[in-house]
Amino acid sequence: MNPYKVGIITVSDTSAADRTKDKSGPLLQQLLTEASSDYQVLHTTVVPDEAIDITRVVQEWADTERLDLILLTGGTGFAERDITPDSIEPLLTRLTPGITHLLISTSLTKTPFAALSRPISGFRNKTLCITLPGSPKACRENMDSLFPILPHALDLVRGQHGAIRHTHSHIASTGSTTNQQQQQQHTCVHHHQQQQQQVQKHSAHTLDLNTPVSQRARVSPYPMISVEEAQSIISRYAQPLETVDMKVSEDLIGYVLAEDVYAKEPVPGYRASIVDGYAVHAEDGPGIYPVCHVSLATSHYQEPKENDDSMTVHTPFQLKRGQISRVATGGMVPDGANAVVMVEDTRLVERALDNQEEAMVEIMISTQANSMIRSVGSDCQQGDLVCSKGTVISTVGGELGLLASVGVTSVLVYRKPRVGVLSSGNEVQDITMTSRPLVPGEIRDSNRLTLLAAIRQANMEPVDLGIVPDNVDAMEQCLQQALLDLDVIISTGGVSMGEADYMKPLLEQRFNATLHFGRVHMKPGKPTTFATIPTTSSTKQRIVFALPGNPVSAVVTFYLFVLPALRQMCAIHQPKNVILPVKILHDIYLDSRPEYHRVRVYMNAEKGHLEALSTGQNQQSSRMISMVAANGLLQLPIKTDDLSMLKKDDIVECIILGPLYQK
Ligand code: AMP
Ligand code: MG
Repeated sequence: MNPYKVGIITVSDTSAADRTKDKSGPLLQQLLTEASSDYQVLHTTVVPDEAIDITRVVQEWADTERLDLILLTGGTGFAERDITPDSIEPLLTRLTPGITHLLISTSLTKTPFAALSRPISGFRNKTLCITLPGSPKACRENMDSLFPILPHALDLVRGQHGAIRHTHSHIASTGSTTNQQQQQQHTCVHHHQQQQQQVQKHSAHTLDLNTPVSQRARVSPYPMISVEEAQSIISRYAQPLETVDMKVSEDLIGYVLAEDVYAKEPVPGYRASIVDGYAVHAEDGPGIYPVCHVSLATSHYQEPKENDDSMTVHTPFQLKRGQISRVATGGMVPDGANAVVMVEDTRLVERALDNQEEAMVEIMISTQANSMIRSVGSDCQQGDLVCSKGTVISTVGGELGLLASVGVTSVLVYRKPRVGVLSSGNEVQDITMTSRPLVPGEIRDSNRLTLLAAIRQANMEPVDLGIVPDNVDAMEQCLQQALLDLDVIISTGGVSMGEADYMKPLLEQRFNATLHFGRVHMKPGKPTTFATIPTTSSTKQRIVFALPGNPVSAVVTFYLFVLPALRQMCAIHQPKNVILPVKILHDIYLDSRPEYHRVRVYMNAEKGHLEALSTGQNQQSSRMISMVAANGLLQLPIKTDDLSMLKKDDIVECIILGPLYQK
């Protein structure tokens, strides 16, 4: 039997900063090795308590390395930075609640504080992932309880039935299943079923789709959560996608490098002149010299002769002492020459007979060896690190040009999410519907256009899913189709309390989606809904943002929730919105919900600070006009008894959405 391939991840800020502090990782390795030669620990690593780092390793070890078992130690407690279980949960294709229960129940027999650990376990395809506490003692206890079941669990997934029988008979023959254990196994199964139901129907809040309007809920059953909480839930599910090879071209804009990139060629690849002038022997000094050669910036490649497929170049010219060669900027400096003098420091003494060429030129200055010459590899040596993993290929930073210049033709990057956008509503009409005027009850679809454009502006390719009527079957069909090849679906409309607001029950009841939240304490955007849909064929869950229909709510919630998630899926290191303090130029009344007030943000160069001008006091969520020329969202605090308005010149935090204006 092949040994089980195991990886161990220590999750700890402290150990990541100083690996000698890591005790649990090495202990786990030792325990496995001592337990059986069947465990082969192939990888160990230490990462900080950062979801992005944890998931990157788990994905790589599960998807690329196809390990049988990944043990994670640390980050399972109640502290704010303890996010190991939450980070890996979205990666798991099947939970193994029985194993989780086993860990908790055995630890509880040792200390009631085991209740403060939040372990999780499950498969990512065929890789079993188990989180363990950070303390070496607890790790040892947990491993003691895991060892009896681990080989069996791993064999089941490998489909090694012989080995399974062996394990069964092993348990039977050693008589190791005590009454207590049998009872425990029974409760495990029970708990397993319960928990699986919980996972699938994590939040069965929605009424049956066929419920008549007279029986609908009159208050949303969804707990109202804060914007920050909503953002943190989303960031747990919006994990970087897999990596792909991409050609170096304009299409690479916005991608994040998934590898360190090294120069394939030296730049320059030959000794190149920095100026237009004359290549000289520096030791010859000032004087009058014959111009014996011309070197323009040109290729020295020669078509190979017949029957000779080797690449050929001109034999370089050899400049003798007492001779000079005219060279252009970027031209190859001839062999023998060791400096270039710029044309401004020379004088024509004699023309050639044809009156066209230069025969004799006076070099009027002294120069030194290497002056005005870029030596081979002086800009960049072959093998130099030119772009490190995590770099975003931008239109500003010149990364594309750099890659091109060093001969890199393809790179490994994180795939960008494929994002679909749909509008829902029987009243919603496409702007291209011009055959007749709108009739009462109808409105133009503005949301789809706005969101498609905003996604494109963020360097991602949106997919237009059109307008879907308020009809459960039509919506189901549209989503079904979209789920086939999209990573993220954004819908607008149909998420509030109306009888035709089908989005939430549809997601839950027809797609087995988990609705992570359905109400956010904010204005505008209260009914914003976030869901994930499990998929059978792929390892990933699909992500759905069901945004409110009001146009301003749709835009505001897109920037607050969707865009950071899309950036995170692209593996952009800082996916959050930029927030800057701005001085407001007038009084603003506060609301009982945290409000996102549209403003134009100016840089006041004279005073050296940012100023925000409201787009108007009427900020109703249907008024698209309140978005015109807006490049910022003021984050207004909620109204209190002591504070009902902000005063002119107050400083407020502002989410920056677009380029600043200059005052
Ligand atoms: P709903 O969330 O479906 O209740 O819609 C809330 C409000 O937004 C209603 O007044 C809708 O008519 C409006 N609305 C919904 N979808 C769109 C859209 N795509 N473009 C513009 N307005 C919309
Ligand atoms: Mg609607």
